[in-house]
Amino acid sequence: MTANDPTPRFDLLVIGAGASGASIAFEAARRGLSVALVEGRDIASGTSSRSTKLLHGGVRYLELAFRRFDRRQLLLVREALAERGHWLEAAPFLARRLELLLPTRQPTAKLYYGIGLALYDALAGRRSIGASRCVSAAEVSRSLPQLAPGHGGVAYSDGQFDDARLNLLLARTAAGLGVRVWTHTPVIELLRNGAGRLNGAVLQLPDGGSQRLEAAAVVNATGIGADTIRRLAQPDVAPRLQVSRGVHLVLEADLCPGGTGLLVPSTDDGRVLFVLPFHGRTLVGTTDTACAGEAAETPSAAEEAYLLDYVRRWFPAHGEPAVASRWAGGRPLLLPEAGEAGGTAGIVREHAVETLPCGLVSLMGGKWTTCRPMALDALAAVAEQLGRPLPEPQAATPIHGAVADGPSTREQLALLEQTLLQRHAPALVAHLLAGHGLAAEAVLACATSAAELEPLSAAIPLTAAEVRHAARHEWAREPADVLERRCRLGFVDRAEAERLCEPVRVLLLQELERSRESQPCG
Ligand SMILES: Cc1cc2nc3c(=O)[nH]c(=O)nc-3n(C[C@H](O)[C@H](O)[C@H](O)COP(=O)(O)OP(=O)(O)OC[C@H]3O[C@@H](n4cnc5c(N)ncnc54)[C@H](O)[C@@H]3O)c2cc1C
Repeated sequence: MTANDPTPRFDLLVIGAGASGASIAFEAARRGLSVALVEGRDIASGTSSRSTKLLHGGVRYLELAFRRFDRRQLLLVREALAERGHWLEAAPFLARRLELLLPTRQPTAKLYYGIGLALYDALAGRRSIGASRCVSAAEVSRSLPQLAPGHGGVAYSDGQFDDARLNLLLARTAAGLGVRVWTHTPVIELLRNGAGRLNGAVLQLPDGGSQRLEAAAVVNATGIGADTIRRLAQPDVAPRLQVSRGVHLVLEADLCPGGTGLLVPSTDDGRVLFVLPFHGRTLVGTTDTACAGEAAETPSAAEEAYLLDYVRRWFPAHGEPAVASRWAGGRPLLLPEAGEAGGTAGIVREHAVETLPCGLVSLMGGKWTTCRPMALDALAAVAEQLGRPLPEPQAATPIHGAVADGPSTREQLALLEQTLLQRHAPALVAHLLAGHGLAAEAVLACATSAAELEPLSAAIPLTAAEVRHAARHEWAREPADVLERRCRLGFVDRAEAERLCEPVRVLLLQELERSRESQPCG
């Protein structure tokens, strides 16, 4: 979206539309603020589409809490477990319970894992999503048949979700509440009033022009870009973030045919590694390599070799793994305080909210699962800038594609599924419901012919209708917006995404032309 009005004014300008920025905009609009949400690239194009896609408290963080007697870390795990429960209910079509195995051949290790995971369950309290359980080697060989033999273990539950689509639907729900969204428009300058306080920003428009926005408060939610915006506000400010690159691979084969994922409990360098079911394939990740911000989204050959080495070790029966896709994202880690353990794997995944003297509020660090409490912390700082408390929302606001509570959403999804199956193939119905929930029919309504409901790929049943829908209702402008983030084809099968790049570009150009000539369809 672009705007040509001279200088629109808002209560709040949020820079960056990842999980953090979209959550802040959503929560601010629920509290009655007028909000502009500005994204330099596409919604979720940063780290928020590049995560391991787990809604979790963090089993590893729980272990760290105990090893270091760190109560703060324990509270973080508890908070994240509550948020895991929140998202599983708020967007049940995008998030689901996933069982993961902590494998071992040692009875003492099994006991250790069992006690730790029982505590993990207990910390979730009423938000528990299923108790952990001991699993025999026979059961493991059924659910993970290619795993090195002889492993039993302990299975526990976390959430698995579509990070890019949840991010997008948060922004879309926020837009439904009146938030003005600009995408592909980076903030290139911050504006100040006569007293030196920030009161807006200049955006660079896709056509090369610029747009001024005025806002009473400005939040920097640019993830690994946070220090750049902070320096724009105050050139001599000290950096607060260290970037750590995390690489994921998607293997062509499905190493988790029973639907259970694997948590490799300890790598040679003391990390954990996930091997997860992912769109009928296998997601393997991640690495943890300190890097410069510009290098955060470029996987290296060494990192790929590192991940493949663990696949070979743990799945020796599989043979040489074929890689269908690879991607990297940057963790925005807060720099360690004096006395904290060195190395990025040891840094507590915690967030911080900072307000510079010029009024810039920066939200830094954190994780996807906890973007909601992070957003509320940022809004507390915004309230201080505005000089007034923000009212609590009176009612729940369902995510676009859901209704007010999880059970009702699930019930209505089941009914919609029955209706859609009368007219469409099961794979298409499953795909539409998984990405769009109760709004799935809006995608079908964008087809200009029956042929536009035919899947364009066997890997993910993207259709021409869905491309049109993404352009009309989801801010998609470029093929990668559709292929990587509106549907996950670019993450699941890179070659397929490249094959579809041109046809998707043509459809997007048609939609651009159409939007110039007419109003978008409902
Ligand atoms: C490998 C990896 C795996 C992870 N796995 C998990 C997981 O399984 N579960 C979990 O809970 N967390 C996970 N995390 C953490 C989580 O993904 C991040 O903490 C979260 O996505 C950060 O969101 P964000 O909105 O702060 O940043 P981002 O998603 O990076 O968003 C920042 C946005 O700001 C935009 N921007 C930058 N500069 C400008 C500008 N000048 N103008 C306008 N816009 C700008 C960027 O384009 C970007 O879209 C993982 C992180 C990594 C790296």
